[in-house]
Amino acid sequence: DQEVKRKPAWIRVKAPVSKEYHATREIIREHKLATVCEEAACPNIGECWAQRHATMMIMGEICTRACSFCNVSTGKPGALDPFEPVNVASAVAKLGLKHVVITSVDRDDLDDGGAAHFAEVIRATREASPDTTIEILTPDFLRKEGAVSVVVEARPDVFNHNLETVPRLYTEVRPGARYFHSLRLLDEVKRQDPSLFTKSGIMVGLGEAKEEVLQVMDDLRSADVDFLTIGQYLQPTPKHHVVDRFVTPEEFKQYEAMAYGKGFLMVSATPLTRSSYHAGEDFARLRAA
Ligand code: SF4
Ligand code: SF4
Repeated sequence: DQEVKRKPAWIRVKAPVSKEYHATREIIREHKLATVCEEAACPNIGECWAQRHATMMIMGEICTRACSFCNVSTGKPGALDPFEPVNVASAVAKLGLKHVVITSVDRDDLDDGGAAHFAEVIRATREASPDTTIEILTPDFLRKEGAVSVVVEARPDVFNHNLETVPRLYTEVRPGARYFHSLRLLDEVKRQDPSLFTKSGIMVGLGEAKEEVLQVMDDLRSADVDFLTIGQYLQPTPKHHVVDRFVTPEEFKQYEAMAYGKGFLMVSATPLTRSSYHAGEDFARLRAA
């Protein structure tokens, strides 16, 4: 185990103390839901939950993959909960969200990778909250033929799948995944339904070079991906991948400008950016523009 690097001043996290934070927590508990906010020990939880913005994590809390940056437990997951679609839908309605982000663990153990369940969650949420825009953040459905179409047909508003890092670092950061497979998935979503917005994200500070980040941006644009998020990787425990360095706020600003220059419609690149950070506000701004 290696020591966790000390965080710089620009990564400041407020303790979650507000009343609204507790109200959000209550609704999540009541519906027996998991959130990536908690599972990933996200530094933004105080801020997001104060605005009731919680990112649901479906299909259990145990993942079949073991990405070296991720705090979710690896193992053999249990059976899918048939009540989960209804529970997610009811929690989203109760939270009164304008925009919801729904993600999941990876389910390599299921024949369809969980695609049909994902689609059910989207449909149930849509039915209960027709005015809520739905953003999904999916696994890569590697070797699950036809799975992507099943999810696309449920018509989420935003289809997000994260590349997480540059291709050179895949074997150490995202073993079990394939960079070009993930890129193709995003391309396929857009080809199947051009009316869906596609989105992807990477973490920086894992040892990537700037040129490699720019190449990822080009790759994503060649797959017609609309939105991009770039955030600082933070090491959740000493067992996880070490932080190579803390990228400065100025460098993030440069990445943001470069990404807009390459044609992304929406870019979030700050140290505390996560896939779901401010996703609703950004999306609302885009639709109003
Ligand atoms: Fe949750 Fe996303 Fe906010 Fe983090 S940034 S607390 S994961 S909604
Ligand atoms: Fe974590 Fe997703 Fe990797 Fe599973 S697939 S270990 S949930 S990042």
